[in-house]
Amino acid sequence: MATVRHDPLAFCSEALAALDRASLRRTVRSLDSAQEPQVLLEGRRVLLLASNNYLGLATHPKVVEAAIDAARTWGAGTGSARLITGAMRLHEELEAAIAELKGTEDAILFSSGYLANIGALSALVGDGDAIFSDELNHASIIDGARLSRAKVFVYRHADSGHCDALLKAWRARNPRRRALVVSDSIFSMDGDLAPLEDLIESCGQSGAMLMIDEAHATGVIGPGGRGAAAHLGLVGQIPIVMGTLSKALGSAGGFVAGSRTLCAFLRNTARAFIFDTAMPPPTAAAALAAIRVIAEEPARAERARTQATRLASGLAMHGFDLSQPAAAIVPIMVGESDATLDLARRLLDAGVLVPAIRPPTVPTGTARLRATVMATHTDRQIDHAIDMFAHARSQHPGSP
Ligand SMILES: *Cc1c(COP(=O)(O)O)cnc(C)c1O
Repeated sequence: MATVRHDPLAFCSEALAALDRASLRRTVRSLDSAQEPQVLLEGRRVLLLASNNYLGLATHPKVVEAAIDAARTWGAGTGSARLITGAMRLHEELEAAIAELKGTEDAILFSSGYLANIGALSALVGDGDAIFSDELNHASIIDGARLSRAKVFVYRHADSGHCDALLKAWRARNPRRRALVVSDSIFSMDGDLAPLEDLIESCGQSGAMLMIDEAHATGVIGPGGRGAAAHLGLVGQIPIVMGTLSKALGSAGGFVAGSRTLCAFLRNTARAFIFDTAMPPPTAAAALAAIRVIAEEPARAERARTQATRLASGLAMHGFDLSQPAAAIVPIMVGESDATLDLARRLLDAGVLVPAIRPPTVPTGTARLRATVMATHTDRQIDHAIDMFAHARSQHPGSP
């Protein structure tokens, strides 16, 4: 019987067409070179203002050599999850180095920051418990919160008073359940710093756990690149400190740093740890070398911050809408998706690669260019980028 059936995947092309119409379609661009201040993009050399390799460590000779040596000694892969036979001495050394960096007793590694958030949140709270989450938290926090099955309360961005009110109201009705407040410490799309002191205070009053995501703070802010908690003098006061090895540390992977008990609990309960193959040796060795480099070369973190300030100040002088950056992320607000894309395209024509960030990554009407700087950008490169921004905008006087 020859029945003509509707293509069951037709919805995919329909969805893509709808994204096209709304200027929201995304495509993956491939580079032909490493994550350095200049990259090869489709045969062209362009200035990269789009990498989270904030300190330039992804190509640091010591980091690269460590990865090569580890591949020779330990192999390319680990062959199983940590709890089976995938754990190597290297993983333990890396966990100890992370704990030392963060000023905690211990740390637990995950294969990515995404998995660290999913693993930790789904292990720490469950049905009947509550999560209080900043509205601009990273997607991996949102997904971890959903996976946990706890009730999720979203508070207004960086509004610790709103968080406190939601927490107290819930606590009054649920005196015995677990509560967890979670926030990026440096926000990934706005680049600002969370009100950590106030969150600590609220959590103390309501008996809630506090978890922070230091993905964009680790390596960049705080003495010795220790992150936002150290920057604010709050080491030891935040029980759950998550971070990544994928950004300033130039490698890949995620971690949760905290007490020995917390880490042992997560090794026993976080499914993203238990059922995931251990981090490859070259990746772990690169991250370990990177932690040593940031201790040896503290000027790198400072340099990344200086370059962010240089870029932000230069753009502000040309009338672009932005605030002073807290770390290495410089968001330039535009508003509508098509105007943002248009500006990004003109910049790329001028040889500057800076991504347009659109909904759903950011709320509707807040599309922006998200520039990030690296310690390895020269002053000339930053100044050139500022000129190109001004030029790109002057070509279309009506637009941002
Ligand atoms: C990038 C990022 C993550 C995910 O880390 P990966 O190591 O890339 O998986 C988590 N949280 C925040 C805030 C991030 O920016």
